[in-house]
Amino acid sequence: MTQDEMFEVKVADLWALRQAAERATQNIEDLEGRLRAEHEARGEAVKRYGARRVELVEQEMRKRGLTYCTRCFCMIYSAEADFVLTEGRETYDGAYHTYGFRNFFRFYRVCPACREKLLDAHGRRGGYDTFAKDQAYFHAFHVEKRLDGFWVRKFGAWGHLGWHDDKCVLAELPGKLVEQLAAEWGLPPRISFESEYFGGPMNKLVIHEHSAAAAH
Ligand SMILES: [Zn+2]
Repeated sequence: MTQDEMFEVKVADLWALRQAAERATQNIEDLEGRLRAEHEARGEAVKRYGARRVELVEQEMRKRGLTYCTRCFCMIYSAEADFVLTEGRETYDGAYHTYGFRNFFRFYRVCPACREKLLDAHGRRGGYDTFAKDQAYFHAFHVEKRLDGFWVRKFGAWGHLGWHDDKCVLAELPGKLVEQLAAEWGLPPRISFESEYFGGPMNKLVIHEHSAAAAH
């Protein structure tokens, strides 16, 4: 091989390596794209799994005529559930050890015990705060669920609350109760993502097997 021929071979070698690097780059980009798509597909599946699992628990509750108290979160029969509206003025803690008074408004679907506790506390007042020149008080009113929405009875008069009144939002079924019922009724376990370390990527899938195991 002449020196010129040798040179040509080495140049061809360089071209081949450059092509190999370009091919690899393309493959990496393809794989990264597929990886992103798989992450998205998995995230979506886990999200839908969680939502449908809660839906299934709620559906099963309705089928069995069960509901939950949104105050103490115990299970009750829908027939014993009642609605109570509480409102009044309460103190709250502010920043730097300060406090203040504010109005509150809470709507509950209650168990018989909570209903009694709330209605018994109706009319309770805190001591007069001479510093803030304010006073806490608590009212609890009976609410009825009718065909056209919720109606509240305040001091002898009925008032309409409406179905979609912002004030009529009930606390969601808590995760702890979902898990308890899911285990009891033999639903598949909870699935979630767990980061490997604090603030790290959410890429580890955790199957909380004990939920299903507890049913057997
Ligand atoms: Zn309760």
